Amino acid sequence: MDIKVEQACPQCGAPIVIHETDRLLTCPYCEVKSFIRANGVFRYYLPPKQENKWDTPLLYVPYMRFKGSIFVVNEAGIGHKVMDTTQIGVNVPGLPPSLGIRPQTMPVRRLAPRISGRYLPLTIKASAVLEKAIRLTPLRLEQKETVRKPVTYDGDNVVYDYSTRVKTVEYSAHSRFLHRAFIGETVSFVYLPVARREDRLVDAVTGSTLLRQEHPAEGLQSATPFKSSWQEKFTATLCPRCGESLAGEGDCLIMTCTNCDTVWALGRDKLEPVNWQMVPGDRKTAMYLGFWRIAGGISALGIRSFADFVRRTNQAMVVRSCWEQMEMSFWVPAFKLRPRVFLRVGRNATIGQWRLAPGPGHVTDSMYPVTLPASEARQSVKVILAASTAARKNLFPFLPRARLEKTATQLVYLPFVDKGHDWYQPQSGITVSKAVLRFGRSL
Ligand SMILES: [Zn+2]
Ligand SMILES: [Zn+2]
Repeated sequence: MDIKVEQACPQCGAPIVIHETDRLLTCPYCEVKSFIRANGVFRYYLPPKQENKWDTPLLYVPYMRFKGSIFVVNEAGIGHKVMDTTQIGVNVPGLPPSLGIRPQTMPVRRLAPRISGRYLPLTIKASAVLEKAIRLTPLRLEQKETVRKPVTYDGDNVVYDYSTRVKTVEYSAHSRFLHRAFIGETVSFVYLPVARREDRLVDAVTGSTLLRQEHPAEGLQSATPFKSSWQEKFTATLCPRCGESLAGEGDCLIMTCTNCDTVWALGRDKLEPVNWQMVPGDRKTAMYLGFWRIAGGISALGIRSFADFVRRTNQAMVVRSCWEQMEMSFWVPAFKLRPRVFLRVGRNATIGQWRLAPGPGHVTDSMYPVTLPASEARQSVKVILAASTAARKNLFPFLPRARLEKTATQLVYLPFVDKGHDWYQPQSGITVSKAVLRFGRSL
């Protein structure tokens, strides 16, 4: 589920409500566009009831919010799940272990220096908070099973009809694994304001008592004031090359310049040029979807060329001699999709790459927003590899040692045709349902 954030326009100060995943802020009042950046993670708080009513400064308790897809590969297959959780980051008994759906029921606000509160530091390691969240998340795994149905019965003999179907099973995400990856995750902090009373702590949002304790100050001493590094920063959205205004939607991570045909990614503190190409469309093309093409070899698996990949993963295709010279690349969707579809689309593009011939192109306004950054795409290479293989036993046991070497990343836009409910990519046969693509915007 998405949380909404109350955000002041950096230009005119007008209050705007944006989505948690929005990085591009377009002010409806002054129409100024800016990119929002954080030094590390974004920090939000649940607004307290009657902010000025409390006689002492409020204490803000950190909860770590994690939203993204988790993939776990083990002998049984590839399990996956969308995780969406907010877990406590301090060891203070009596406080709620999770914020549950509270951040979704009201817009949260960004921490700001003007708030007269003090902030508890994280005392549980972020990795431990994440492991706890994983334990609480059962994974979904699609397994083929054979179904036997009796068709006729003549005397002693039963005639059965056999069919296979895919069933979804759930298992613990904490079980043994060969490979695990978090893809497309948003990590942030949501602070719960609490008020200190003589012998108890009070939830400053609801007014209810959280805990009574003999020594209420215990564990709460280490609170610090606002740190200036927490302050969000803004970047102008002008093309660094030609100075024209860049185009993009709220949740996009990549902006395009139609004036000089360049593509820009929001880097740590400035816009950085993106190496990009496109497969040319024709008059039937209704939209271009971006894929991260991540080239490189995996020596632990003997994969250097596309031909090596086809052999190693036992594809039902005859290896062409030209594939021996063809560099291997993994094609990862540059947009968020629910995990099952993400695996399918990445697999189809990776196996179908020999049909795709990208080259230089022109920026058009029918390019779908890129919502998955290149860094996340690189983390999903082993998951896409696992999803692509038709011979698990040849490949899965080697995954822990597999490393992608000499990598090069490029953004490639592929043309898609409108087929009613689906988008269809003619060269590779990839289909993405429109509903699934829309749903991906909320992940
Ligand atoms: Zn404004
Ligand atoms: Zn430009």
